[in-house]
Amino acid sequence: MIYLKTTFQDYYKILGVDRNATAKEIKSAYRRLARKWHPDLQPADKKKEAEEMFKRINEAHEVLSDPEKRAKYDRLGSRWQDGDEFTYQYQEPGAGQTHYYYSGDFDFGAGGFSDFFEQLFGRGGFRQSRTARRPVRGQDIESEIELTIEEAYRGGIRSMRVSGEAICAGCAGSGVTGGGFCSRCGGTGTVPREKTLEVKIPAGVQEGSRIRLKGQGGEGLNGGSPGDLYLKVRILPHPLFRLNGATVESDLFLRPEQAVLGDKVTVNTLDGPVTVTVPPGSRAGTKLRLREKGFPLKGGGRGHHLVRIQIDIPAHISEAEKELYHKLSELGKGRSRA
Ligand SMILES: [Zn+2]
Repeated sequence: MIYLKTTFQDYYKILGVDRNATAKEIKSAYRRLARKWHPDLQPADKKKEAEEMFKRINEAHEVLSDPEKRAKYDRLGSRWQDGDEFTYQYQEPGAGQTHYYYSGDFDFGAGGFSDFFEQLFGRGGFRQSRTARRPVRGQDIESEIELTIEEAYRGGIRSMRVSGEAICAGCAGSGVTGGGFCSRCGGTGTVPREKTLEVKIPAGVQEGSRIRLKGQGGEGLNGGSPGDLYLKVRILPHPLFRLNGATVESDLFLRPEQAVLGDKVTVNTLDGPVTVTVPPGSRAGTKLRLREKGFPLKGGGRGHHLVRIQIDIPAHISEAEKELYHKLSELGKGRSRA
């Protein structure tokens, strides 16, 4: 348990209004007093006093004009007098010891609010106030997107679940509420959030490319713009195609006689099946080039598709085929390799 000792601020007394005052009465009292105590309108010798009064008036207005803050303040009860030594207690997560802190009289912090205010509305309470809000841009986030070669080649729209963080609604991102850590986010100011995004994939993205999704990164604070989400492209292994820069490669399995005699065969490409002429005497490892059947090139045009010839030795052959192979073997005897 932590006890924070500070000086009670009677916001109703400061504004000179009744505890049952309406929002309108509070507003007009605030305007009148703010005009009266504005430091710029005071003679030099009264400036210091006026600044203090002006801060107290602003703070009182900050609390009483906000229904949520006012309700919380009212729950403290009416037994307190302005200037009383006020002890506020809260349970800090994980803290077992008892601590006492004492804050001096009307000690206004960097945010221009008293310790009393900050203890009641959070140690970062001034961050939630209208007067001290500064927009903070959200973080850029990096993630990955896995695409098949076909998806990367064609591009298009792809739905994807992205897990990220949202500003905690319980504390508006400050991590504190009512003098303690926010219970909803545990004091981090953010909560995990999953969202589904429609990702536009440009046609021809390659391994390692980054797709930028503007405004889909971390949320901004206090009206700050959100960060961006960068998706790093990972290309998944493909049963037929290998990608090497903008060049697509695949294997073509030929029977020995197709390789020897040449043939017309069907080959799958990114654009679908095409007919390829295999020249006679094609050796294993020979690469046939299918012009402009690869990925788009940066400067326009397309890469090629290389078809690598493999000789497929049949595991089972018929008696007739066996006979012919024997004949071939006889004919080829004594012939040396060119
Ligand atoms: Zn929170």
